[in-house]
Amino acid sequence: MKNNESLHLMTRILARRYAWGVISILSFLLSAVVSGAAATPALTKTCTTLCRGLPGLTPAECQKSGLEPSGALSNNGVPILIKEYPPVRSRKPQARILVIGGTHGDEPATVITVFNWMQKLDRYHSGVFHWKVVPLLNPDGLLKKKPTRTNARGVDLNRNMPTSLGGRGTYQRWAEKTGRDTRQFPGLKPAGEPESKWLVKLIQEFKPQAIISVHAPLNVVDYDGPGPAPTQLGRLRLRRLGNFPGTLGNYAGEVLGVPVVTLELPSDTIPPSSAELAAMWADLVRWLKAGIPVSHPGRAPAKIVDAPEKPAN
Ligand SMILES: [Zn+2]
Repeated sequence: MKNNESLHLMTRILARRYAWGVISILSFLLSAVVSGAAATPALTKTCTTLCRGLPGLTPAECQKSGLEPSGALSNNGVPILIKEYPPVRSRKPQARILVIGGTHGDEPATVITVFNWMQKLDRYHSGVFHWKVVPLLNPDGLLKKKPTRTNARGVDLNRNMPTSLGGRGTYQRWAEKTGRDTRQFPGLKPAGEPESKWLVKLIQEFKPQAIISVHAPLNVVDYDGPGPAPTQLGRLRLRRLGNFPGTLGNYAGEVLGVPVVTLELPSDTIPPSSAELAAMWADLVRWLKAGIPVSHPGRAPAKIVDAPEKPAN
């Protein structure tokens, strides 16, 4: 009788343990389904690394974002992450749009801004546009002990893009007109950095019809390429800063004829409020939906505007 009771008790304990095991497995599977694909070890590691330079973003949020390694690595070997919001069935996208943040490592507010907009796309992506989103192009600059505008090799990625002259002029301009400002060093070769080389390849392959580039802290909307430009995004108002060889605005906007909307947030480090981010995003999508300007074949070659040295976006 005693043995029977012991056996019964043991069976009940095992059943309870077994049930908890089943519940644990089910809840794990359920959470993986709810949050999308489970993060790979590579993404988990990358997110943990990146979040060290991004106060306000947790590794868990980064892992759940659906970002994936693009295959490109920074100079220091950090994967550059990308997320695609592809076309949906039965709807032809109006256009392909590329969104880029964190070109300058000392502008973490731009990275947080792009993460915020990805959350909106996660919720509302309906196939009107085909998006590719790169929240952080320059992880090495962001992850330095004292974050820098430039990448690990001291190159300003927004001065290292190809030009219509095959890159000629960029270095000379830097040497002669910026007083060799190290923050704007364009490198010795256009697209000579792994980050810029990959960005050029992405633009050539994806063929975006508009590029949204987020910078700080000039508190304006800048624009390059065929017009008309958006006049206001949230509180940011249009003020054309001009462009010169080596910038993304010059390469994509002037050389390729792709509209480049540059949002210059008011602060490098403090992202706009949720309400302001929502207002910027709503205005941006409204402008895109109204019809993206196109570059007409045969138009006169773009005049390169030689903007004053300051401010440097
Ligand atoms: Zn910048």
